[in-house]
Amino acid sequence: MNFEQFSFDPAIAAGIRAAGYTTPTPIQEKAIPLVLAGRDVLGLAQTGTGKTAAFILPILQRLGKNPARRTRALIVAPTRELAEQIRQAACDLGGKTPLRCIALYGGVGKGPQTAALKRGVDIIVACPGRLLDHLADDAIDLAQVEVLVLDEADRMCDMGFLPDIRRILKHLPAKRQTLFFSATMPPEIRGLADGILKNPATVQIGMIAPAKTVSHALYPTPDGLKTKLLLAMLGQTATGRVLIFTRTKHRAKNLARDLEKNSYRVSALQGNMTQNRRQDAINGFRDGKYDILVATDIASRGIDVSEISHVINFDMPTTVDAYTHRIGRTGRASRSGEAFTFAAQADEPMVREIEHVLGSRIERRRLPDFDYSSIVPETRPRQDRPNRTPGGQNRSRNTGATARRPSQGSASRRPSLAAFAAAGGEASAPRQRRQFSTRARHSSW
Ligand code: AMP
Repeated sequence: MNFEQFSFDPAIAAGIRAAGYTTPTPIQEKAIPLVLAGRDVLGLAQTGTGKTAAFILPILQRLGKNPARRTRALIVAPTRELAEQIRQAACDLGGKTPLRCIALYGGVGKGPQTAALKRGVDIIVACPGRLLDHLADDAIDLAQVEVLVLDEADRMCDMGFLPDIRRILKHLPAKRQTLFFSATMPPEIRGLADGILKNPATVQIGMIAPAKTVSHALYPTPDGLKTKLLLAMLGQTATGRVLIFTRTKHRAKNLARDLEKNSYRVSALQGNMTQNRRQDAINGFRDGKYDILVATDIASRGIDVSEISHVINFDMPTTVDAYTHRIGRTGRASRSGEAFTFAAQADEPMVREIEHVLGSRIERRRLPDFDYSSIVPETRPRQDRPNRTPGGQNRSRNTGATARRPSQGSASRRPSLAAFAAAGGEASAPRQRRQFSTRARHSSW
């Protein structure tokens, strides 16, 4: 199977060659003929499957024959990073066509976007909020849209964009082709899809389960050892580009700083950074200026860097879906990758859920030659401790994994096993330490 069978225009075929694609991915094989035939499509596909090209290529084919400099295709995406990635794919694949594509998202000035809209564009990729802003300014006319794509609809729903989507839909002509992509199908998404798709063809590729090209391993570790473990792991593992996920913006910032102190070429990518700094971080990671990117989940769907060798979950994701999307950043388009997850004992229920979706047990590993007994006591008096969530995770700003204090009292040096687990493993008593690092009594880890 190759791309010739789709009979794309020579300009598009040239774009496909320039992108280095030779064989369509399974979703492209299934979806492209349907989209070319004008069908509505419900695509159940995770990231990393090649779904962007599955909708971009037929759109280029449809619009390329008579570029009109009016908006004929609208692609709505949940995050700025994803919107930028889709725009880039359209520019790469459509680089030899006369079509113009822009991305509209917040966090950057509206002026250049308005100016580009005035000059006329064929394809708009947009995040809902900024698109509504431009609509309110009368800067966009969507009355001529022929194709609407809703990408990562489940994510849009998670981020609270459903009312915005419904508002956007009111600006679109009823007669159009609609392509709807989602990795999962919760009831709200099913309702939205049912309401806007007409006689859709459903294309389902590896729903939910993470890419098969990724091998997974779990490193049981208390929270207080994570930074040390990470440094030891990076020191003894042959890695290419490494993407590390933390639970909070502050942990991302602090961990990036700790790695930088250890001479790694690293950048953080988190929501407190301006859009320009976020884009610089992604570009630097893509271009090789940084080997490591420490990101929060905000980045997990938007980073299209094809050679990520390792995804490391420094903190356990809070949902299976987030795990799928994080690790979808490696092993993209059939390259192989490794996903390592640091799991504290309190993460056990989430591990079980992930294993259920994967359909297999994730291998537990211990890093060879790493001193698991080096947990430094966490001895702040109880009342000084920052708030912890019910899952035992620490949400305070000043609690980077390396923050430690000297020992002060026997009570905190000898917590119960439950307290140890709740503290994310920051206890010091050797007995508890051993229980954690081998196997908890009531756990099947
Ligand atoms: P996506 O799922 O659309 O985010 O695509 C994942 C990655 O696969 C991107 O880096 C694409 O450039 C790449 N890709 C998409 N289609 C193909 C293909 N047919 N052959 C090789 N790589 C592809």
